[in-house]
Amino acid sequence: MPELIQSVRGMNDLLPPDSAKWGYVERRCRELFERHGYEEIRTPVLEHTPLFARGIGETTDIVEKEMYTFTDRDESSLTLRPEGTASVIRAYIEHSLAHREPVSKLFYIGPMFRRERPQKGRYRQFHQIGAEILGRDDPLIDAELLLMLHDFFTALRLEVTIDVNSLGDAVCRPAYRESLRVFGESRLAQLCENCHARLHRNPLRLLDCKEPGCRQVTADAPVFADFLCAPCRDHFARVQDYLRRENVPFALNPRLVRGLDYYCRTSFEVIAQGLGSQNAVCGGGRYDGLVEQLGGPAVPGIGFAIGVERLVMLLQAQAPPRSSPPDLFIAPLGEAAEGRAFSVAHRLRLGGYRIELESGSRGLKAQMRRADKLGARYVLILGENELAAGKGTVRDMQAKSDRPAAIDLALPARAMIEAIYNPSSQPSALSPQPEGAEQDSPGKV
Ligand code: AMP
Repeated sequence: MPELIQSVRGMNDLLPPDSAKWGYVERRCRELFERHGYEEIRTPVLEHTPLFARGIGETTDIVEKEMYTFTDRDESSLTLRPEGTASVIRAYIEHSLAHREPVSKLFYIGPMFRRERPQKGRYRQFHQIGAEILGRDDPLIDAELLLMLHDFFTALRLEVTIDVNSLGDAVCRPAYRESLRVFGESRLAQLCENCHARLHRNPLRLLDCKEPGCRQVTADAPVFADFLCAPCRDHFARVQDYLRRENVPFALNPRLVRGLDYYCRTSFEVIAQGLGSQNAVCGGGRYDGLVEQLGGPAVPGIGFAIGVERLVMLLQAQAPPRSSPPDLFIAPLGEAAEGRAFSVAHRLRLGGYRIELESGSRGLKAQMRRADKLGARYVLILGENELAAGKGTVRDMQAKSDRPAAIDLALPARAMIEAIYNPSSQPSALSPQPEGAEQDSPGKV
């Protein structure tokens, strides 16, 4: 296939019916997050490169080798955002949000770009649903964020594990770092090349290494829990107490670390079965020094980012997508009938009904095949002969029966659909509610 019509490697089209799953996930997210007081933020996909170098860290894999960076015509260096937090904080500082509200609860949904090696669950353009709370550092807020995350996965009927750890703070981290460094030095020969470099730059990342040999070596490495200072220990204990209070299942994972110094205290990851090696659906944690690091006020923060592709993969495994059929399929026969069908469809759609309208130039048989394929229960056939009498024929696809129905454009949409579904004009149990009135469910996407 010519390159012209091939999407860029690692960047995918989102097509129906999968797009309906995405819409469903986004609706559930908005619903739940807004109930917790979060407001949406949208930032540009392009930022000045130094924002990420500073906000994510010069020595991270993302900044070292995965960013899509280019020089703009005015020689400035721009980068397609590889994650959302740095941009949110840039906007938070730029628009002085700290002066507007003591606490900002923000969420975002959008594409991120990392030039990683594509594989199942790992793409070069992927999407994240993220949330950030800026302005509070008490354990209650950490627990509230984790509880909301748990509720989100539960609402989607997904079983996941939440791993948590505490990364301490500037007071207790140096001693832990040092103990890891000493531990690593004493086992240098058994560690991989990458870990040698990590040992000097950031010993915490020894625990991150995916090499089975290194994992074996670090299995009995010192754990942060033994090094936490009293305030960090208390903070972490209270977060856990709140989670237990609401029966949120979580696992303590001493290996869970983040590379940068401003990540502190509560750190977490959500893991799901059935995703293969890319099994993390969400990562997050507290970053109390980051706003200041980027030039803003000393405002604490905590947040998470969920990978939407992986989330949708999990939903796919759970239940096949089922799109809802139209409330009515209109089959006009001929040009004049098509004009009337056009008006009927418009009227009913304004009333909230989901209507499928065919072209009047297609034969009845072809139209019926299409109605059947879409799963329509009722088809309104509008023939030229019936037009003058203001009538049509309703075919009940289930009962396989035809009956005449009056079509009166002067009636409100609900009465029109009643007359179509039930020509005797008795309100019937078959009448569907307009779309907006329906309950959302995972099966109906
Ligand atoms: P991170 O920003 O690296 O903490 O990632 C947060 C979440 O985004 C991960 O748990 C994944 O679900 C998702 N994610 C990160 N990188 C990718 C990628 N290259 N492709 C797909 N999803 C990703």
